[in-house]
Amino acid sequence: MNETESIKPDTKLRPWWQRIPLTLQIIIALVLAVCLGIALGAGNPNAANKDLINNLAIPAELVLKALRALATPLILVAVLHTFMTTNIPGRAGRKLTVLLLTNTTVAILVGLLVANVLRPGTWGRLAAPENTQAASQSIDPWGLLKDAVPEAVLKPLVDNNVIQLIVIALSFGIVLRAIKSEQIAEGKRGYQPIEDLVGTLFEAVIRILNWVIALVPLAVFGIVAKTVALQGFAPFKSLFAFIVAVLVALALQACYYLTRVKFGSWVNPLKFLAGGADAFLTAFSTSSSTVTMPITFEILQTKIGLRESSASLGALVGANFNNDGTALYEAMSALYISQVIGQHLNLGQQLIVILTSIFASVGAAGIPNAGLVTMTLVFTSVGLPTQYIALLVTVDWFLDRCRTAINVMGDMTVSALLDGKKPRSIDET
Ligand code: ASP
Repeated sequence: MNETESIKPDTKLRPWWQRIPLTLQIIIALVLAVCLGIALGAGNPNAANKDLINNLAIPAELVLKALRALATPLILVAVLHTFMTTNIPGRAGRKLTVLLLTNTTVAILVGLLVANVLRPGTWGRLAAPENTQAASQSIDPWGLLKDAVPEAVLKPLVDNNVIQLIVIALSFGIVLRAIKSEQIAEGKRGYQPIEDLVGTLFEAVIRILNWVIALVPLAVFGIVAKTVALQGFAPFKSLFAFIVAVLVALALQACYYLTRVKFGSWVNPLKFLAGGADAFLTAFSTSSSTVTMPITFEILQTKIGLRESSASLGALVGANFNNDGTALYEAMSALYISQVIGQHLNLGQQLIVILTSIFASVGAAGIPNAGLVTMTLVFTSVGLPTQYIALLVTVDWFLDRCRTAINVMGDMTVSALLDGKKPRSIDET
């Protein structure tokens, strides 16, 4: 085997259809599905085809089931991995935590505000998928707090309980980090096998997730063909409204970042936008803030002129924990689906959406479609039927790109704010 072959065995061994970019696969699936949906009746299906049409949803159901199953292990290992591999100094760490929490909360509030004002879920009708179970109980926020402590360490993994899981992940993450630092100070390396194990598990979960994501075009094909066959094009009017609403909310969040940069740092917002263009475009084209991270880190220092310490805290930690675009999207999706099915979410329930979206966005890895994985947990927490996420899959390929760009912009904003009001002096360079 020559050198080039050994470097890129993966692409060579992949079948031809996997070498087509995922977005293109999804677009092809969409077009084929619309044709099949029209052939099957476009809203007036022939009764003889009923079984066939219903079975078209099977791939989407399986993909969703797999995403639900992967969500909790993904959050657990992603959080542990970040704590074990990144060093956050105490004071900056506290400032960083406050910044991350405020930005994410603002993002979710912006999302909820836009969804409550535009009410995209009422622009068109979507028929309920089968097995829909509405949550009838009203949820009490204090109960939620009491519920944050799990009965057994592994129970949140089994129950898919995101809040309990984050409590476990953060506790172990903080403690393992402290043990690692103590051992390093004493010249010991006992932590290494655990760090390696966590790193390997993280990679394993992501690889399995990639298998599931490879099936997304098939899921999109089935669910769109079924929807068109049974309901015609009416549901897509509502999905279009959802896209518009998410874009409006993301744009508002971008304005919020620019305002924070203007008043909280020395950086000129226009320079911030122009200097960040490479990172935004990479985020948009890869749908991954982790893949974009090296570019974000680089441009923060070279094009915007931040200190290395602020750039690394914002970009490296942010790429793992700070996903404001994802948080905004998850909260909006929950509200949108609640509007679509006419299951009103009261204030208490919207509060739960805020809380779980914060946790779900912290747990979402910076890879394509990760927000879709953890979204299942937000839906479950307020009793929304997760089957509807299958419909969101059809537009996620586009919205993922947009929210990833905002995730990266959020990391850059945090870096600028950490850099403070005084520009780097010549001797600091
Ligand atoms: N793709 C996003 C990111 O990499 C995560 C998400 O799916 O929301 O930041």
